[in-house]
Amino acid sequence: MNDMSWARGVTRLAVLTGAGISTDSGLPDYRGPQGTWTKDPALIGAFTEQNFLASAEVRDRFWHAFSALHRTDIEPNAAHSALAELDRGGLAVRVLTQNVDGLHQRAGSPERKVLELHGSLATVDCRGCGARSATESVLTRVAAGAGDPRCGCGGILKPSIVMFGQYLDGAVLAKARTIAAASQLFLAIGSSLQVEPAASLCALAVQAGAKLVIVNRDPTPYDALATAVIREPIGTAVPAICRALAAR
Ligand code: ZN
Repeated sequence: MNDMSWARGVTRLAVLTGAGISTDSGLPDYRGPQGTWTKDPALIGAFTEQNFLASAEVRDRFWHAFSALHRTDIEPNAAHSALAELDRGGLAVRVLTQNVDGLHQRAGSPERKVLELHGSLATVDCRGCGARSATESVLTRVAAGAGDPRCGCGGILKPSIVMFGQYLDGAVLAKARTIAAASQLFLAIGSSLQVEPAASLCALAVQAGAKLVIVNRDPTPYDALATAVIREPIGTAVPAICRALAAR
C-alpha cells in the first residue's frame, strides 16, 4: 500500500460509500458490466418514481423485479467490519452511504452514525397516510400474488429508497453537508462520484479544508483533487486504511 501519512492525526472522519463496497458481499453493482441496470436497462423505467406512482402495471413489474433482486443471504464484508471496528476504537466515524443494503449497520456501525443518502431497502412507506412498515411483510404478499400491494388505507406502498427522478430528503442532505464540511479526512470508497450528492459532498469537504482520499477501481472526476487515490481491492485497502487511522 502507498504511503499513508495522511492518516496521521485524523480525529474526524467522514466516509462516503457506494456500491463498490458491497460487491465483496455478493451484491451486484448497478452500472458495471454485470450491473443491475446494465443487464436490464428496461428496469430503470420501473424504478422511476413518476412511472411507479402512475401505473398499477408498472408497480406489478416493479415488485416482481424487486422480489428477485431482494437478497436476505448477504453479509457485511471486511471493509464494512473495519469501519465499524474503527468507530468502536474511539475515532469518530460518520458514514454517508449511497447504498440501501443496511450492511454498515449490520457490521456494527451505530445507526445514528450512518446516514443513508438513498434510503433503505428494509422498509416501505405508504404514499397515502405515511405509515412505514417492513419490506419483508410486503414481499410475502407479493409472493402470494399481490401485484400492487396497498396499505390498509388504500395508499400506494413504495420502498423507502430514492428512485430515479426523485429528490433526496432535504434534511438528510443538509446533515450530509454538515458532516462533510466538519471532517478532516473525507474517504470515498467504491463510488464513481458521478451521481449527486456524492460528487458535491467531495467538493464541499475539500473546500472546507478536508483531505480527500479515494478508494475505487476506476478513475473518478475527483481524482485530481485527492490527496491519495487507491486502486487496490476495497476488501484489503479499507482494513489497511483503518489500521493506519487507528494507529494515529
Ligand atoms: Zn396508508
